[in-house]
Formats: sequence, C-alpha cells, structure tokens
Amino acid sequence: VLELRGLRKAFGEHEVLRGIDLTVHRHEVICVIGASGSGKSTLLKTVNLLEGIDDGEVLLQGTDIADPRIDVDATRARIGVVFQQFNLFPHMTVLDNVTLASRRVHGIAKAEAEATARRLLDRIGLGDFAGAYPDRLSGGQQQRVAVVRAIATSPELLLLDEVTSALDPQLVGEVLGLVRELKEQGATILMTTHEMAFARNVADRIVFLHEGEVVEQGAPADVLDRPQHPALVTFLSRVH
Ligand code: ATP
Ligand code: MG
Repeated sequence: VLELRGLRKAFGEHEVLRGIDLTVHRHEVICVIGASGSGKSTLLKTVNLLEGIDDGEVLLQGTDIADPRIDVDATRARIGVVFQQFNLFPHMTVLDNVTLASRRVHGIAKAEAEATARRLLDRIGLGDFAGAYPDRLSGGQQQRVAVVRAIATSPELLLLDEVTSALDPQLVGEVLGLVRELKEQGATILMTTHEMAFARNVADRIVFLHEGEVVEQGAPADVLDRPQHPALVTFLSRVH
C-alpha cells in the first residue's frame, strides 16, 4: 500500500528524516517507536503531505504522492489521519464531524453519509452522542470518534500519531481496543505509539526510528526482546 524510498526532510540545518526506507503492506499494522524528536510525527506528516520532502519517494499504491504535480486533496482523501489531540471540530456535532469528509471531499449524499456514520458510532457504543458536541464526550470517547471519522471514507491507509498519549491512563485501552478491532477487520495502519504492550500484541512489525533513520525493524518479539542496535537497547530500558 505504502512504500517510502530514501525519504529525506530537513528543517533548516536540522535533518529530521535521513533516508527512510519503509514498506507497509495491505492489512499490516506497523508501530513506529523512538525517542522524542526522532522524527516519528514528521514521518507521518510527510505521508499525509502536511510536510513536503527534500528527497525520496512516497509511493501510495505505486504512485509517487511526493510529486508536486499530484492532486493533494485527492491524495489526502485516500488516507485517514488521527493525531494526538484536537481532532474533532468543537463547533460541529459528533455526527457532522464524522460525515464531513464523506460529504465534502467524497461527495456522498447526506442521508448515506449519516447512515454510515450512525452505524460506526453504534459500533463504538456512541450512537446516543450523534447529536452532541465534542465537549460532552470524554477524551477517550472523542478519540474513538476521531478514529471513526478517519475510517468513515474507507481510506486505503490509516495514520495514527500518538492517539492515546493525551489521554488519562484509564481511557487509553478503549481507544487501542478500537484500533485492534480495525486491524482484525483488515485495516492497513501506520502508527506511532509509546504503548509498548499494545505494539507487542497488535503490531505486525515494529519500526525503531533513531535520529531520523530506521535502525531496526522486525517482529515485535525480536525488536522488543532481542534488540540489536545500542540506541534501541537504551530506548527500551527507559520505556519499560
Ligand atoms: P515526539 O515523540 O516528541 O512526538 P517525534 O519523534 O514525533 O517526537 P518530530 O515531531 O517528528 O519528533 O520532530 C523531529 C524533530 O524535528 C524535532 O527536533 C523537532 O523539533 C523538529 N521539527 C518538527 N517539526 C518542525 C517544524 N515544523 N519546524 C522546525 N522543526 C521541526
Ligand atoms: Mg510526535
């Protein structure tokens, strides 16, 4: 679904991504881990075209979306995104939040978009909140709505950047539970997380980013229990 080749990105003198090669296959869940400042968010932003790149290729289903001639809006419409916080529009109801992209970007009729949204909200137990504004919901409920909004348009790829790190610990599980369900339903997900237990249990592959480079990747048990790179050993000793 996604292939990154030789991805480079600098902010001024600071090279944040230093030649990233990464492939995400269909139905795969990839967890990107790494220290603060290692470039995880920047990596996801380049895939969503929120940050331009200096060199390399970002291939979505074989098409280089880093090419300046690409239709940015059409490309973004193929990718679902949820960030750490401030995901929902506070002045719109939950239902309008979830249907916004379907209606505006994909041109789906109101009745159909709302039927899909209500079905998804029911599935996460929030059907009764369809007409409510986001501030009526807990942080965990808001993030689940944000995830549901991101999948309402059936994106080819879902990007999740630290979707639980702004949440109280007791709310983390309900959001990660939803992500796990999406995986079981066949979603393709590239996510960053500090939740090592989740990464171990749900990820097909863990990718360790260190100073803008993928220095180690593999099955969770290999990466977490048999780390090779010294930076990964240090990182794990701090998060465990
Ligand atoms: P965290 O775990 O704290 O979220 P991260 O791995 O997501 O960290 P990034 O947000 O990708 O790290 O940032 C990587 C580096 O790039 C940091 O040094 C950061 O200060 C820098 N950076 C990120 N965005 C910008 C920007 N828009 N302008 C300048 N520097 C930036
Ligand atoms: Mg980040």
